[in-house]
Amino acid sequence: MQGLMADYPLTIDRILEHANRIYPHKRIATRLPDGTLHRYTYADLYGRVKQLANVLRSLGVKPGDRVGTFAWNTYQHLELYYAIPCSGAVCHPLNIRLFPEQLAYMVNHAEDRVVFVDATLLPAFEQVADLVDCVEHVVLFNAGEDRKTHLPNISLYETWMADADDTYEWAVTDENRAMGLCYTSGTTGKPKGALFSHRSMVLHTFGGNQANALGLVETDVVLPVVPQFHAMAWGLPYACALAGADIVMPGPHLKPEALAELIVTERVTLAGGVPTIWSELYRELKGHPRDISCIRTLLVGGSAMPRALIEAYEKELGVSVLHAWGMTELSPLGTVSRLQSNHRDLPDSEKWDVKAKQGNAAAGVEMRIVDEAGNELPWDGKTVGEVQVRGAWVVKSYYKLDSDPEHFTPDGWFRTGDVGTIDPYGYLTLTDRTKDLIKSGGEWISSVELENALMAHAGVLEAAVIAIPDEKWGERPLAVVVPTPDMGEVTVQALREYLALKVTGFWLPDQIVFVEEIPRTGVGKFDKKLLRRQYAEGRLG
Ligand code: AMP
Repeated sequence: MQGLMADYPLTIDRILEHANRIYPHKRIATRLPDGTLHRYTYADLYGRVKQLANVLRSLGVKPGDRVGTFAWNTYQHLELYYAIPCSGAVCHPLNIRLFPEQLAYMVNHAEDRVVFVDATLLPAFEQVADLVDCVEHVVLFNAGEDRKTHLPNISLYETWMADADDTYEWAVTDENRAMGLCYTSGTTGKPKGALFSHRSMVLHTFGGNQANALGLVETDVVLPVVPQFHAMAWGLPYACALAGADIVMPGPHLKPEALAELIVTERVTLAGGVPTIWSELYRELKGHPRDISCIRTLLVGGSAMPRALIEAYEKELGVSVLHAWGMTELSPLGTVSRLQSNHRDLPDSEKWDVKAKQGNAAAGVEMRIVDEAGNELPWDGKTVGEVQVRGAWVVKSYYKLDSDPEHFTPDGWFRTGDVGTIDPYGYLTLTDRTKDLIKSGGEWISSVELENALMAHAGVLEAAVIAIPDEKWGERPLAVVVPTPDMGEVTVQALREYLALKVTGFWLPDQIVFVEEIPRTGVGKFDKKLLRRQYAEGRLG
């Protein structure tokens, strides 16, 4: 027997309609590139999203087309987050920190027809545009009168908006239509696309707003420091609208002193970002004390939050830390480390131990750990296995990659490439990862791509790149290099200069070590576990 409840599609426009109906007066503030604060309300956002949907139509964007964004966290980027999916197209935020060749790969792979660019980033985007042929229009916002560019087909956001009607019928009725596309670094070097549907993102928004998860409420003032190009800013732009929370967008002003000022002046209650941001902010506050106890939740994820930093925030600054684990492929929410009632009587130091774990799966996400043969392992807090997940907001395949046993099990679970234990209370603790990647300041560095780049140098016979722990960035790359015999001396400086032409700045290995041979595993691969043990513990050479 079928249920008799209404067929009510879970589409992103439902979230915006709710925000406009119940919370039209709530505030959205943006720190613009020139440092001034732009302020408007959800009602203003609603009207401009409708105008922007008409602009997209005028630009020839059709349902299913991919539309790129190359931008900081701003109100215009928020408008794009709603107008693109609500008009049936797919919002593809591009990671502004990547190298032009990597970005060009993503734009070409996604076949973006239009890209919306923050004018402050135009010089970087021009280098990408020169390498792609699918982009028909580039639309600029925050552009001053003096902008200069060699790009054809460039137009101004506000010129389009000035002429656009603010009446528009939302275009999506099928909740399974794609709404967003985010690329994540692939283990083999090629980025892979997670293609979110309206249904998955709406369920992620409801799931994230559960009190046991992020638990946003109407009284919150939310500062998403996590970039909108990183896993849809963890879904915060949608979660805020659903809860009616005020939003504060930092724009390009991500230095700790600018963030501290924004937190204090806007009375931020929940701020989300990677550990590097919060460790810098902590140092800033030690030097220039300010009262940031308006923050009821410091949301941190993307990399492991060091326990010492949790303690510092909670003990010294009176700010409660909420540590979460996620992945782009999970939209991104996976687990949240909240204390359970059985932790209530623990001394603070043990509470911080719990908070430093990655935490419990959010309701809506199922999690298991398995051994190499795929057998499920016990939740005893000791047995280590690969973390696998499934759920309504977890990918079932990557964009344009159908058969993919490396990432999906035959029984429908996603293989995260993270490795850890789960304790009897269901808390995940990550201990390692199988994917050959380095996470620096919350952003991926592909060791395979770095190795290939190094080995393309005539003076390099072999190169293995590993992650070593770093206090500021979480991890940094270290390259172990075997020089080619009889090629004369190759120096660290020469290799760094060579790499700088091939990869983006933050990918450059901090250390390059020369060795006679790289240790190998029984099957002949570089033994990176051994290398990590040797170098991560500081036993160089
Ligand atoms: P991304 O798709 O870029 O968000 O990266 C997801 C990956 O970042 C995960 O698979 C983990 O390896 C890592 N990660 C995310 N959150 C955490 C966390 N809280 N602790 C440790 N690693 C994390």
